[in-house]
Amino acid sequence: YLYSRDYKREDTVIQVKKHKIGQGEPVKIMGPCSVETEEQVRQAAADLASRGVKFIRGGAFKPRTSPYDFQGLGINGLRMLSDAARIHDMAVVSEIMSADQIETALPYIDIIQVGSRNMQNFELLKAVGRVNKPVLLKRGLSSTIKEFKMAAEYILAEGNPNVILCERGIRTYEDATRNTLDISAVPILKQETHLPVLVDITHSTGRKDILLPTAKAALAVGADGIMTEVHPNPAVALSDAKQQMDLSEFHAFMDAIEKFEQHH
Ligand code: PEP
Ligand code: MN
Repeated sequence: YLYSRDYKREDTVIQVKKHKIGQGEPVKIMGPCSVETEEQVRQAAADLASRGVKFIRGGAFKPRTSPYDFQGLGINGLRMLSDAARIHDMAVVSEIMSADQIETALPYIDIIQVGSRNMQNFELLKAVGRVNKPVLLKRGLSSTIKEFKMAAEYILAEGNPNVILCERGIRTYEDATRNTLDISAVPILKQETHLPVLVDITHSTGRKDILLPTAKAALAVGADGIMTEVHPNPAVALSDAKQQMDLSEFHAFMDAIEKFEQHH
């Protein structure tokens, strides 16, 4: 398979603007769950950039469980996010949910996210496989590692070599966390594939109180970076209000993770 270490021994390094994923310092992809207002993404971008975060995330096409919940601002949201990112030279990561969104979304996105709920949307995988932009592929809600690798294969097989794998927890009987972070998936994917592997510490746990140890665990087992949600005012967030760090929590998190990284 194209994803495998047997096919390609060296790590795939993905260049996004001036930034690299899969080589050197682990990356941080941070930002709100959803893009909501210009003010919100500007504030988030400014604080993230002030701590050296190079990738900003924010959903504009949102895969919500209920059709009556906030569905995202669509292209207008992407425009807001990309304007805010551009001020600080940050790269934009955002989810697209269907192939027909790709063309209009592309000018505003540096890394296309394929969400958990779409990990086996094979037509979408093929479509992003034909695009000349990196794809961040999240592990499906209840997918095995084999199915995850095969989803990546769909993208690679269409000619797009720049796939980033993102472990984000899987469904189990455990309800102390939103999902169960499969930490062993990281070293397994690093061994069996040449692709960068990230861990979304926010969606995997759904708990702000254990973000820091979860991030440390991810980095300790060899993740190429982490994703986490940060919102200037989580209390008014239109999605995932409870799990997003506010700005003071974000700065405290960065203080601690920088200290951890210095010792490793
Ligand atoms: C997200 O990152 O915005 C998201 C919806 O996550 P997941 O697809 O992992 O549930
Ligand atoms: Mn979210």
